Amino acid sequence: MARDPRFDPLFEPMRIGPVTAPNRFYQVPHCTGMGHALPQTLAAMRGMKAQGGWGVVCTEYCSIHPSSDDHPHPFASLWDDGDVRNLTLMTDAVHAGGALAGVELWHGGSFVSNLASRLPSLGVRSMPNRTEPVQSRRMDRRDIREFRRWHRAAALRARDAAFDIVYVYPTHGYLLSEFFSRALNDRSDEYGGSLENRMRLTRELLEETRDSVGDRCAIAVRFSVDGHGDEHLSGDEASDALASLGPLADLWDLVVADYYGEEMATSRFVQEGALEAKVAHARRVTGKPVVSVGRFTSPDTMLRQLRTGVLDFIGAARPSIADPFLPTKIREGRPEDIRECIGCNVCYAHNFRGSPLRCTQNPTMGEEWRSGWHPERVPPSAGGSVLIVGAGPAGLEAAMTLGRRGFTVALADGAERAGGRVTLESQLPGLAEWSRVRDYRLGQIGQMANVSLYLGNQLSANDVREFGADHILIATGARWRRDGSGRTLVRGISRLDTANVYSPDDLMAGARPEGRVVVFDDDNYYMGPVLALLLARLGRTVTYVTPEGRAGAWSHYTGEQEATQAQLLARGVEIIANTSVEAFDEYRLTLACVFSGATRVRDADAVVLVTSREPEEGLYRELVGEDPQDAGPSIEAIGDCLQPALIANAVYAGHRAGRELGSARGAGGLRRDRLVV
Ligand code: ADP
Ligand code: SF4
Repeated sequence: MARDPRFDPLFEPMRIGPVTAPNRFYQVPHCTGMGHALPQTLAAMRGMKAQGGWGVVCTEYCSIHPSSDDHPHPFASLWDDGDVRNLTLMTDAVHAGGALAGVELWHGGSFVSNLASRLPSLGVRSMPNRTEPVQSRRMDRRDIREFRRWHRAAALRARDAAFDIVYVYPTHGYLLSEFFSRALNDRSDEYGGSLENRMRLTRELLEETRDSVGDRCAIAVRFSVDGHGDEHLSGDEASDALASLGPLADLWDLVVADYYGEEMATSRFVQEGALEAKVAHARRVTGKPVVSVGRFTSPDTMLRQLRTGVLDFIGAARPSIADPFLPTKIREGRPEDIRECIGCNVCYAHNFRGSPLRCTQNPTMGEEWRSGWHPERVPPSAGGSVLIVGAGPAGLEAAMTLGRRGFTVALADGAERAGGRVTLESQLPGLAEWSRVRDYRLGQIGQMANVSLYLGNQLSANDVREFGADHILIATGARWRRDGSGRTLVRGISRLDTANVYSPDDLMAGARPEGRVVVFDDDNYYMGPVLALLLARLGRTVTYVTPEGRAGAWSHYTGEQEATQAQLLARGVEIIANTSVEAFDEYRLTLACVFSGATRVRDADAVVLVTSREPEEGLYRELVGEDPQDAGPSIEAIGDCLQPALIANAVYAGHRAGRELGSARGAGGLRRDRLVV
């Protein structure tokens, strides 16, 4: 199908200094958890985005020198010729897809602690690292000279690695932002004091980068349009810096001061296009092309950014992770096929943990090289029939994948609506966008004559056997436990008067406890805080109890923890940390300190237990017994009924099962991206 000509502006080439981008789709630098550690994995992943139509594809933060070492997070690096060779894998893959390759040269300053290189970290002054018990060393004149030399050398290596766009990166709290900061920069030399002095080092780098590689490479700057918070760099100062430095770059890549609250915020807190008002003036001020992000997935919203002159390039990290072929789908006039990012930050969380990127919506993300997975193509099959029981994320993904492979698929669910946990959870406060996991797959399945969906069909083992399919996948999910057992209380709560005890499943099914409600969260991700918020909004007096030190502690990795806690406090929810539940009987709740064991009693009308889930594996066990081998090869359990985990895990399990059904299991195993000496 031809694209709607309305969207033509998104496909117009544009010059960036000495290079020309083929269109307006720009994958801004984003972390991957791959970096220098997994060069082939990285190259295949970035190359896939170029194949999918992104006109510019950038690296993650790319260290210029061992004094900028963010171990254990696998950043990219351009320290030596070995790095040049490894990153050339990426630029080759990106160029093969017809895109420009960009590299975000980076020095972490006091932000890194150099755990691997063991060099002292460098700062505008000596100051504590954000987590490690070390401080940076104040840079003297020689250090500044050396730093400039490293940056120039890295820019030359970037050129040698065939990058088309080279970044100077004075933001996100790293070394150059320290120099910009009024609060941190207490220098009395020409690098401290006035704004002109504080941005001197950035200006020098821009000039030197231009001088060294500017004939071949475009120079981009990633910059926070509204400063870094008033004590560091006010919005007015940021505008002055933009105007002053504007002509020195070929492209401005705009971010905002509030990283977790706005720029990287999840859909629980921020919607598409949220940065628009803040970045709108930058194009006029710099007089140069600008790119910025906004979790753009709607072609109309993208078009509006160009039409209204806010942006020249549609920047994306997460939408390009969820759908590497997003530009192609718009170009081919099939925007309904876009796999829209749901704004969950599971991608970010895994990089944050030092593990390779993954995505809730796109199970092939990170598997391009080691598993040979393509986000839009699946291996054909000889056909056959498959019955899938359970239309949650695992069952839906498996059905879609098998349908594409040519199997005849029957997908049955006892519920009247497809989607399983996604349908239930997306009705909770802030989680509406998660329904995209269901809707994308239903949309795709709806186009397939060989996939049939049977809702309202609760199947027994006999039903399954009588159906007579060649292959059976059991994707029956999991139920929240109501005995309190989990991480902290392995045996559950010993004295539990169950009359007023609720599980998340009860609340998602519509139950609404009255009065003073205690939410005990031993799960520590989103479910506990979201249910506490739901009840607080209904006017209940809510107390949130967690054995962790903070509300929704794991959501630290998704960048949501602070917003989560602030949201609960703003709603009047009392937060009791470092505390477990010992007993609940006759409206008396006994709480215990996780350190001292000291107990206290408080009155409560109801308790919601968010602790752990029980796999719904009854049907599977009835079919296969305790040893699946006895049941023949083609009955498999997938998703939460096998292993309760993130939605991303269920989608991944459904995808893997869909790809591998009928073929030699995991043929060849997973490739390992490592140096073999
Ligand atoms: P997952 O995350 O693994 O996909 P979910 O819990 O989201 O799991 O979905 C499981 C789905 O399986 C639910 O929609 C549930 O209604 C359905 N289900 C569970 N048992 C049966 C059964 N015996 N017959 C049909 N559907 C079932
Ligand atoms: Fe979007 Fe979530 Fe995928 Fe990240 S993991 S790209 S936020 S859907």
